[in-house]
Amino acid sequence: MCKVIAIANQKGGVGKTTTTVNFGIGLVNAGKRVLLVDCDAQGSLTESLGYQEPDKLDVTLSTLMQKTIEEKTIAQGEGILHHSEGVDLVPANIELSGMETALVNVMSRERVLKSYIDTVKGNYDYVLIDCTPSLGMLTINSLAAADEVIIPVQAHYLPLKGLEQLVSTVTKVQKQINPHLKFNGILLTMVDRRTLYNKEVSAVIRLNYGKYLKIFKTEIPVSVRAAESSAVGKSIYAYDSKGIVAEAYRNFTKEVLDDGKHRDKHCKEHTR
Ligand code: ATP
Ligand code: MG
Repeated sequence: MCKVIAIANQKGGVGKTTTTVNFGIGLVNAGKRVLLVDCDAQGSLTESLGYQEPDKLDVTLSTLMQKTIEEKTIAQGEGILHHSEGVDLVPANIELSGMETALVNVMSRERVLKSYIDTVKGNYDYVLIDCTPSLGMLTINSLAAADEVIIPVQAHYLPLKGLEQLVSTVTKVQKQINPHLKFNGILLTMVDRRTLYNKEVSAVIRLNYGKYLKIFKTEIPVSVRAAESSAVGKSIYAYDSKGIVAEAYRNFTKEVLDDGKHRDKHCKEHTR
């Protein structure tokens, strides 16, 4: 069965896109069939997979959502790009910014992305949605389509207020639109273990949130290699396979897969 995971945080620049790419390709390397969905009009996910001019693409997420709204037929695999590292991509470009306002007047406006993803998810083990840095209609659509949400948090500052807003939005979506949605966990990103301040922030987040939200054991270290890899359209595994960021994303992928197996086993034992 396919699992849909939204990678979300309304704070900009926390590592959502980098995590989507490297977790997604990490899953491919673990033998999974993976679709990445760029749900951000900035098109950063599309660009970081090497499609340097997203605005020139004919079919993007915006086209597919528009067709869904108009109940037009979407051909099998329409608009889906195939990356050389084995991951599939629904790209996005600036056209998606119009969707945020267009959705307001649409029937079942929160479920348009879900309706589209439901038509393609049969071909995949995982669908990862790279969310836009806001809590607007596109993020609501992403959460409505998801089974789980993973929240990357940059360990550079104390993100308490922002996290509270995000948790409250997720809780509202759970209550009103998607009761299946689960918090998977918080991923600390761009961690600089050499600085005392960073270590303190990490510890404070674990102390304050660890009680009621899972915080992944794996932390993603800061490294210029991460930024360089997106500039050349490759994952960190292809760009710097032996580096610390590649190792961290490999460990993170394994941690998510192991936790999933553990939970499935637990569920089966409880339903026996
Ligand atoms: P936005 O909210 O704008 O969509 P985002 O949350 O998707 O941003 P990214 O684009 O993944 O964040 O990362 C922000 C910047 O930090 C990018 O330039 C990226 O290359 C860089 N970056 C991501 N992870 C790391 C890392 N581990 N070490 C150093 N730089 C990183
Ligand atoms: Mg991004």
